[in-house]
Amino acid sequence: MNRSPARVRIAPSPTGDPHVGTAYVALFNWTHARQTGGQFLLRIDDTDRTRYQAESEDKIYRALHWLGIDWDEGPDKGGPHQPYRQSERCDLYQQRATQMIESGSAYRCFCSQDRLSQLREQQKQDKARLGYDGTCRDLDTEESSARAAAGEAHVVRLRTPEDGETRFTDQIRGEIVVDNCEIDDQVLVKTDGYPTYHLANVVDDIEFGITHVLRAEEWLISTPKHVLIYAALEQPLPLFIHVPLLRNVDKSKISKRKNPVSLEWFREQGFLREALLNFLALMGWSPPDEEEVFDLQRFEEAFRIEDISTGAPVFDMVKLDWLNGMHIRRLDPGALADRLEQEGFLPEGASRHQVEQILPLVTERMVRLCEFTDRTRWFFTEPEPPAREDLIPKKGTAESSNEALQAAARGLAELKPFDKSSIESCLNSILESNQWKKPLLFMPLRFALTSRKDSPELIDVIEVLGQDTVLSRLDRAISVLAGTQ
Ligand code: GLU
Repeated sequence: MNRSPARVRIAPSPTGDPHVGTAYVALFNWTHARQTGGQFLLRIDDTDRTRYQAESEDKIYRALHWLGIDWDEGPDKGGPHQPYRQSERCDLYQQRATQMIESGSAYRCFCSQDRLSQLREQQKQDKARLGYDGTCRDLDTEESSARAAAGEAHVVRLRTPEDGETRFTDQIRGEIVVDNCEIDDQVLVKTDGYPTYHLANVVDDIEFGITHVLRAEEWLISTPKHVLIYAALEQPLPLFIHVPLLRNVDKSKISKRKNPVSLEWFREQGFLREALLNFLALMGWSPPDEEEVFDLQRFEEAFRIEDISTGAPVFDMVKLDWLNGMHIRRLDPGALADRLEQEGFLPEGASRHQVEQILPLVTERMVRLCEFTDRTRWFFTEPEPPAREDLIPKKGTAESSNEALQAAARGLAELKPFDKSSIESCLNSILESNQWKKPLLFMPLRFALTSRKDSPELIDVIEVLGQDTVLSRLDRAISVLAGTQ
């Protein structure tokens, strides 16, 4: 495909929490703009006033900033074609609608909601094709203008040709041909004067000089209407690319009933932006070297817009968790500590030094950043004392655990330096001199020090806790065993 500078856009509607699908489409658009030295635009499609939510726009900005996807033109940034919020561009849509009425490619329709509902019911009963029946198509132009001038409620509709076909090429799906009789006389301007998505979208894509319309597959069905609007406005078509829809496990279109979809949720759970972008990239594209774990830079080098797949990618949380773990382990402790701090996952009172010290012990098993506090609580604050029964392994007794903890306390109290290798040889010599199997010593020790059974490597735990804390927790556990705590 042509690699001249592309002008591409995303056009989210501010109707709720920022959707993961927005990030998915943004990723491909943004990357293509970067690769070709073009521009990536952010347009806010806010003409559906019934679903509009004021705070949603800011949430979209925040989510994209978090992902590291920046835009060259947009409502908050301005640009040569501002404004970039559709509700501020209504005059323009009106002008284009008037132009289309004058050229005969659109017409005013005065049919009431009641009539349209009855029509729909009838069509359903007759199992006929649903759509407008053309009652107002051939109204006399003067009459139509006079009724509109008198303030009679109306919409503006696209005059779809009665016969023939509409054709366009989707860059990954090939040529698409639709019989015009299948295309409804789509409403372009609603009774409230706001344009529908179809008109506003085409007018803006023309005005903004968009070269590639890369969007989700769900819009493919609307594209023939858009092609007719381009023709009516005598404008060349952009290139169209419809990326496959993200799907729930049951293959239905991704929805919040069955899957998390809010970008805020992914952030709150502690998914790394790298992992989410990596995951989204894999949903629509396969890396040529089959290396599934990659960063944005690698993606930018390898991605080609024409290689976007047409499959039906399933949003598999297990895979995303796996990728998140992989990306967590790609960050060094300093960088990971930064993320934990930025995302608010640091336990209260934890010092930076402590966090960097503990991170290497827990990242091996960490999947989401939100687990950090839970996995490391034993380190930052003294945990609840262990339960007595947890201190006694299956093949042990209260006496054997008491002996084990006493021996460990004696041995560890003498260590200097207190480091991994000295701790290891101390524990080994306790095992050897008593002829104990590992669990007899390690299990009570683990519970004594962390009050949990799934802690990191015991020797690491002992080292990072430090001699004083280790000894005091051993004392405490010995009292629990004795029943004096
Ligand atoms: N406002 C539409 C959306 O919410 C934009 C679709 C398009 O990219 O044309 O997804």
